Amino acid sequence: MLGEKNISFYNRLSLRAKQGLLLILVILQAMLLVGYLVYQYTYIKGEAARILRNTTLLEAENFEITQDAMRYQIRVIGNAILLNHTVTPENATSFLEEELKREWLDGVVVFNDKGDFVASCALFPLKKVFSETTLAELSFRERPLFKNLRLKEENDRLLYWQSKGTDLNMHGFVMYHAVRDLTGRFLGGVLGYFDSRSMIEMFRKLERKGFYLGAGGAMAVLDRSNRIQLTRVGAGTDQELPHFNPYLSQVMQYAADSARAHEYRSPVDGTPRMGVFLNLSNHEWVMAVGLAEHEILYGWYIQVLCSIIALVVMATTQWLLLNYMHTNFLQRQQLIQEAMYDALTGLANRRHFNERVQWACRTAQRKRQPLSVLSIDLDHFKRINDYYGHSVGDEVLRCIGQLLPGLVREGDIIARVGGEEFVVVMLSTELEEAGVVAEHIRASFANQSIDFHGRKIQFTASFGLTQIMPDELDVSDGIKVALDRADRGLYRAKREGRNRVCRVDKD
Ligand code: GH3
Ligand code: MG
Ligand code: MG
Repeated sequence: MLGEKNISFYNRLSLRAKQGLLLILVILQAMLLVGYLVYQYTYIKGEAARILRNTTLLEAENFEITQDAMRYQIRVIGNAILLNHTVTPENATSFLEEELKREWLDGVVVFNDKGDFVASCALFPLKKVFSETTLAELSFRERPLFKNLRLKEENDRLLYWQSKGTDLNMHGFVMYHAVRDLTGRFLGGVLGYFDSRSMIEMFRKLERKGFYLGAGGAMAVLDRSNRIQLTRVGAGTDQELPHFNPYLSQVMQYAADSARAHEYRSPVDGTPRMGVFLNLSNHEWVMAVGLAEHEILYGWYIQVLCSIIALVVMATTQWLLLNYMHTNFLQRQQLIQEAMYDALTGLANRRHFNERVQWACRTAQRKRQPLSVLSIDLDHFKRINDYYGHSVGDEVLRCIGQLLPGLVREGDIIARVGGEEFVVVMLSTELEEAGVVAEHIRASFANQSIDFHGRKIQFTASFGLTQIMPDELDVSDGIKVALDRADRGLYRAKREGRNRVCRVDKD
């Protein structure tokens, strides 16, 4: 019931109002979609930041573990050769060869307290690196770096090293360890070397295990103060490493001891990325891990596109459906109108009259009120048609259709029941009162005229009036009896000269 009420309320709205409602609905749908997309955007960004933090922490830990392993190993080598002499200079090379089989050492050089070569081994031709004819003559005595290390009495140092002026382009991580006896006397030093390429290979292994940053992602170890890229895996690796980049200082502002994601434009390849810049434990280097913004948001872009398409399709479908349903509703209304009302006069037709009269009789019976029935027939209507034409006749009928509703009370039933025959049923109206109304109608008709080429065409009608009381309705098909009675009055009016009202009382 409520549904029907709502539907009829909705149907009663004009097309513009319905379209306005739909527009509000579409805007609501769009707002919901935008809300969903904004949520997805922040969710995806949050997830990317989480992945980045975890990956950076893992990569940094991996990097540091490698350094620790290297540090431990060169200590073992230094102690064995320089302190405990468990390895003699003769079998030092084979000892070192064995040590180099570990993953985190590509070369090792041992020198004594004066800086002269003691033993060495490498996975590459060492002598080419140092540009010496024989390794036996190799001495670090005068090399400024080692002089420095000795004089400063440093015991451990991690640094980045690049070969200069040799035919091998080498660069990587060098770890220095000074060997001292119990009294603290300097016995010599060990230099361990781990090539950048080996480091990259290590990070690639992590990638293969699932820590892949995507085609636009990159991992790099950066030298903070010197603004040098030491190692890089992923996008932007077309430059030779190590690579000095003055713009690195732009992203160094993000470097921190804890992993936090930032959005930035890469100073290396210009790609907008989200990344984490984590200080490594030596506080000179920074581990940078970044994901390309467009790759993070790729799925989201597709969602946006699909949402827009879905919204447009939905809105268009709803719009078309609305217009279709509205037209359908209007057509249905039109059909109902045509089925109930006479097209020429706009008055109820016989079928609708019968329906309404049934209802009026039931009400009169229940309320114990009288009904008055007035039967109307135009006088000599055939003549009007014959003299002036059918269209003038039609005009007269149309005129009556407009006149009658204004001459009776609202709620009274008026119908065109034949060609030029009409009926008026006056609700809760006594015969006296109805007689006045009928007379008024008669006079109005007689005073009315239709204009035909400047001529005033007048018409009159004859009326038969009767009344039906509730008790009559109780015992018979009252309205039929009343209509017959009114018709009898009408015939009498015709006989008596037309243009008059004749009452017929109950027998
Ligand atoms: P009376 O005074 O005895 O009623 O004479 P009358 O000419 O009105 O009676 P009759 O029943 O002989 O003629 C009715 C005429 O009404 C016949 C018909 O041509 C005309 N008529 C019926 N329906 C229409 C209509 O829709 N339009 C027009 N123009 N004329 C109609
Ligand atoms: Mg007639
Ligand atoms: Mg007639």
